[in-house]
Amino acid sequence: MAGTGVFEEIIDGEVYKYYADGEWKKSASGKSVSIINPTTRTPQYKVQACTQEEVNKVMDAAKAAQKLWARTPLWKRAEFLHKAAAILKEHKNPIAECLVKEIAKPAKDAVTEVVRSGDLISYTAEDGVRILGEGKLLVSDSFPGNERSKYCLSSKIPLGVVLAIPPFNYPVNLAVSKIAPALIAGNALVLKPPTQGAVAALHMIHCFHLAGFPKGLISCVTGKGSEIGDFLTMHPGVNCISFTGGDTGIAISKKAGMIPLQMELGGKDACIVLEDADLDLVTANIVKGGYSYSGQRCTAVKVVLIMESVADAVVEKVKAKMANLTIGPPEENCDITPVVSESSANFIEGLVMDAKQKGATFCQEYRREGNLIWPLLLDHVRPDMRIAWEEPFGPVLPVIRISSVEEGIHHCNASNFGLQGCVFTRDINKAIMISDALETGTVQINSAPARGPDHFPFQGLKESGIGSQGITNSINMMTKIKSTVINLPSPSYTIG
Ligand code: NAP
Repeated sequence: MAGTGVFEEIIDGEVYKYYADGEWKKSASGKSVSIINPTTRTPQYKVQACTQEEVNKVMDAAKAAQKLWARTPLWKRAEFLHKAAAILKEHKNPIAECLVKEIAKPAKDAVTEVVRSGDLISYTAEDGVRILGEGKLLVSDSFPGNERSKYCLSSKIPLGVVLAIPPFNYPVNLAVSKIAPALIAGNALVLKPPTQGAVAALHMIHCFHLAGFPKGLISCVTGKGSEIGDFLTMHPGVNCISFTGGDTGIAISKKAGMIPLQMELGGKDACIVLEDADLDLVTANIVKGGYSYSGQRCTAVKVVLIMESVADAVVEKVKAKMANLTIGPPEENCDITPVVSESSANFIEGLVMDAKQKGATFCQEYRREGNLIWPLLLDHVRPDMRIAWEEPFGPVLPVIRISSVEEGIHHCNASNFGLQGCVFTRDINKAIMISDALETGTVQINSAPARGPDHFPFQGLKESGIGSQGITNSINMMTKIKSTVINLPSPSYTIG
């Protein structure tokens, strides 16, 4: 059960505490933030609304703890992480329970998220030991005009304090994808979890606490992003921001100081289907890619661009497969569960109504009860409809019929987003040419877009992000290069 057993100390009455200086604390604000269960639409949990003063203290403690942590041997840092990973996996059930209640993630997927997060932490520890254990030696005489009189030793050092802000849809996995690389690289870490998902994140942080990390090195401050977000992201104590979310990330990048930013933002991942594609494979990937977790994934298929000649066949197959999707509460492991909030459901409905008014073909009847939206396929969508461009983050998928590959590529590249895309064809040469032409961070050939496995590079172009994630990239991004140059006496001074 959430908040019980080893997690008893993280809650006070009915409000979850925040984590600072190695302790679970109540905020001096005396205020809390309610987390609404998307299924029941009633308050499920409460978390502290932390104050600016509390953020200041967390930053000071982080700075002090980081100095010692950076000198802790790399193998020891890895040991702490392995321990946290094991504790996290051991407690997957109460954490998954929070994910079910806070973000309506289907129960099975919630457990998978926690286990995957444990694996991510362990992999990061191993990868960090390898890549941070290596440096470089440069000699001066490779550059014109130089003698062999300077030796440059360079290695990677931590940035300092990393601020991690994950989104609601993977509050555990996308938090540890920032926490683990930051820590193995010798940084301190301040987490601001998403409000929906905060309680799962606090449970996850407690696993790091139980692993015995030094006091102050890791902290978790809760509160609404709209209230404490700016104070955190513009805080002078922050040396790096790793953010995953929507447009908020664009605003943060404009406000943040001269510090490295890792921004993984929204997407409008296109699925391009050519005439020679395996249509059953296409169908399976459209349904899984478009509707898993009710479409609330950055890499969900968000628009299908399909050659007219195979469109009717694929639409029929997709409709038939969609009829098997189960719809209902996350506790029952349904495929389609309520979307995260009422405002999100209203936004999705707005896109659907716009498409309706402009003449899209509804393959199913539009149906909504509370935050639960029945899966919907919209055919004959045209570029003048909002849903052709905007990210619904819901179980609603537009189909645009195209008459040439170039038309599909053009639509994809005209998007403000550039996260992933996918192409279905049996012609590998064509697939590679299309991949080269698409302005997205990744192109999947013959499979739906996906983040992961977690060690693969993962990045968005244009408004989809800055920098690259994936375990190795994140470790590198959270370090900087430090050089020491050994200057020898003049070359005329020789031995031997
Ligand atoms: P969001 O509204 O942008 O929120 C993301 C995080 O930012 C939350 O923790 C939120 O806290 C916080 N926040 C809000 N205002 C802030 C501010 N002024 N300063 C600092 N932090 C602030 O996104 P979301 O609705 O949680 O997630 C959905 C979006 O994430 C979609 O666009 C999706 O495509 C994107 N996403 C991208 C990736 C990727 O890797 N590219 C992966 C997953 C999701 P509160 O919850 O307290 O507001």
